[in-house]
Amino acid sequence: MPTDGNQAYAGEVQPTGVPTKSSAPTDLPYLPPSSSRKSLKRKGTSLVKPSAKKRFTGRPSGHVLPSFDEVVQAIQDADPGLDVGLVHTAASLHVGNRDIVLSKDTSPEDDPRPEPIGHPAVWATSRCHLCSTLPYFQSYKSGIYSNGTAVYGFMFDGENMPRDYVGADALIFRAGGGWTEDENGVRTRNEDQTLNPGIIAVQLAVQEQTPIVIISGRLTSKMQSKMKYLYSVLGWFKPTHVFAEKANGKKVFRYRLERMFTEEQSWWAPTGRDPEPPLGSQPAPIEKTCAVCEKVSQQIYVQGWMCSNIDCTSAFDVPAGQNPDDLILDPRFLLQKTEWLHSTTPEPLVPNLPSAGSKSVAHITRNASRGVVCRGCGCCIPRKLWKGWECSHCGWEYSIPPQVIPLGDVQDDNQFHEDDGGYARSYSKCTDSVISREFSLQYNYRVATYHINGLSGCFVSHLIANRKVREEPNGPNDMFAQLQEQDIGLRRHTISDKKGEGESLPNHFSANFGMPYKYVIATKNEPFSDDYGIINQARSRLTWAAHQAVPKNEGFTEFNEILACGYFETQKMKYHSDGEDDLGPTVATLSLGAPATMKFRMKSNHFYGATKAAEKAVQSEPKPGCLNYEARKQAWDEIQHLSKKNQGEQMSSWTKTLGLGKSQAKSTAKRESHSAVLQLTLRHGDIVIMHGGAIQHYYEHEVVPDGFRFALTARTIDPKTINSGDLPVESVKPDHIKYDGSYLLAPPGGDIST
Ligand SMILES: [Zn+2]
Ligand SMILES: [Zn+2]
Repeated sequence: MPTDGNQAYAGEVQPTGVPTKSSAPTDLPYLPPSSSRKSLKRKGTSLVKPSAKKRFTGRPSGHVLPSFDEVVQAIQDADPGLDVGLVHTAASLHVGNRDIVLSKDTSPEDDPRPEPIGHPAVWATSRCHLCSTLPYFQSYKSGIYSNGTAVYGFMFDGENMPRDYVGADALIFRAGGGWTEDENGVRTRNEDQTLNPGIIAVQLAVQEQTPIVIISGRLTSKMQSKMKYLYSVLGWFKPTHVFAEKANGKKVFRYRLERMFTEEQSWWAPTGRDPEPPLGSQPAPIEKTCAVCEKVSQQIYVQGWMCSNIDCTSAFDVPAGQNPDDLILDPRFLLQKTEWLHSTTPEPLVPNLPSAGSKSVAHITRNASRGVVCRGCGCCIPRKLWKGWECSHCGWEYSIPPQVIPLGDVQDDNQFHEDDGGYARSYSKCTDSVISREFSLQYNYRVATYHINGLSGCFVSHLIANRKVREEPNGPNDMFAQLQEQDIGLRRHTISDKKGEGESLPNHFSANFGMPYKYVIATKNEPFSDDYGIINQARSRLTWAAHQAVPKNEGFTEFNEILACGYFETQKMKYHSDGEDDLGPTVATLSLGAPATMKFRMKSNHFYGATKAAEKAVQSEPKPGCLNYEARKQAWDEIQHLSKKNQGEQMSSWTKTLGLGKSQAKSTAKRESHSAVLQLTLRHGDIVIMHGGAIQHYYEHEVVPDGFRFALTARTIDPKTINSGDLPVESVKPDHIKYDGSYLLAPPGGDIST
């Protein structure tokens, strides 16, 4: 099922997965007040690196971290001339920034970190909520939100990399991309990282002084305080450095960012610890010119200066005798304060609420389907309800007053050029080699029926309504208005709820009536009742249409289920099928409002002949239009006399011999041939009937509306296929309206013989 897609380029920045083993240390480095630091004895506070860290290279498990005193000693050994205050600051920052690795199963209560001193202004309990709410972070998969030239936000979660730093005011972390994984799941870099669009965007943000928002997941290992929520917005940061280092001898890119608005302490500073020294409190960073590239770089680690110019071949030449994992950040670099020409942000951290403004359609725009930040508690509230937003944490509510949108605002002009008595035009197209097309005039509909080669008895029938149908009392025009006036309980129902990233939501709103419908999304179920007269009208109309379309000898069982879908502007339904086994063979949909494009294509596994993941040959007869049809059909026919077991053995070699599976279909031409074979333009009042289970088995369809739209889809669901606990309390009432479209006077010449 669809979720809101990424709107911009999203390259990877950090792995957002988290280790599965729980080995959180409980002994946290506590830094006593600075006055007592010199006499500090901290023998017992070393943290044992959790074994989960072996996922990353160069981090042996069971490695005992040096104590505070050992860190002090190491710094003094590396640079005996260093000021003692600086040595202690460096050691404190180093010891205070160690990893606390939690597992996904670690509850916030079991999180050993101290509470933060404050509370995030914006937070979320799901990635979907976060990304659908915040304009500066709409990246559903990766840790960077960028369009390739502008970077808006970063998110980190899970384990940080060696030498990363997550402090109160300064951050250092590594650019993503370019990883490979060996057979043990250890991530390494086999070649130099190259500039990717995300890194280029950060470079540009450094040059052009554009702030970036940083978001932390609950399990960021370098975060020193407890993150109460799955995702918390830290705030606005200045990107200041993009520099080069090496891992396994291969170049990697790293970033430094510093917090804006440091007059207030950062909310995530841990309680019970001294605040970190503020930005700008240290001497200026050491700068040297590289003998190789002749560029100036700042000294990043106390162990000594290295070139950090991203183009230099001698970048990150670690001083002799030093292990890169033991490098200690230099406070003069880390805590420097970068002056910008401005201290403003491009957007508010808490986005403005969408408002009605002067537009009558404000309540159904793309903005209206996005989430809002709760003004009561700061959480990201997704747009779940048709009527508006409601915070499930504190009860705060918001809505944009709806206005009934007239049809003329959502339809193209052609609509009104039609003659009152004429048959409407078809805008649909199909691939002739796969689809045969048949046309008739029935009552007031131009009916285009599409037969799919090889799927005998199956068809897609498109009943194109004319003006007379649309204007009929209780017809499409009335329904479109009523659906806006009455809240029939449309909402976005949860698709999935994963521990790591919370619930995700579909793109559109839905409500179900009659028998429960478990495909695509489980929805709450309402009975057919007089409270929802419009649903009864739609069911009756679709039942009448199906009676016309389905051959009499097959019989048609009255629809007992209606799924109502509502689409705001820019919402859509991605490729899916409607399920096969326990549904009746006939599915009918009534379109209301803006036109939509409905496309059919063969499912990927049938087109390529193999399952997506394992690339095993599919156990279904190949159908015309699939890749390599002739050879596959012949091979299929040849094994039909064999037992199921022997068939399976024969088929196991097909992936190779017949070139099945997507990976075999390398050429662009082959990939492009996996495209839609039928494209219907569904306009207000049109009905589409899909008949035959094989359509759902072999084909999938998508619907992309051109604006504000409703769709009412009717099915016949066999009660025997529903778990008794899920059955409606009262059995589904029969259709009592008995709609009959033949009473509408058809234009002359219509074929009403059926
Ligand atoms: Zn250099
Ligand atoms: Zn709230």
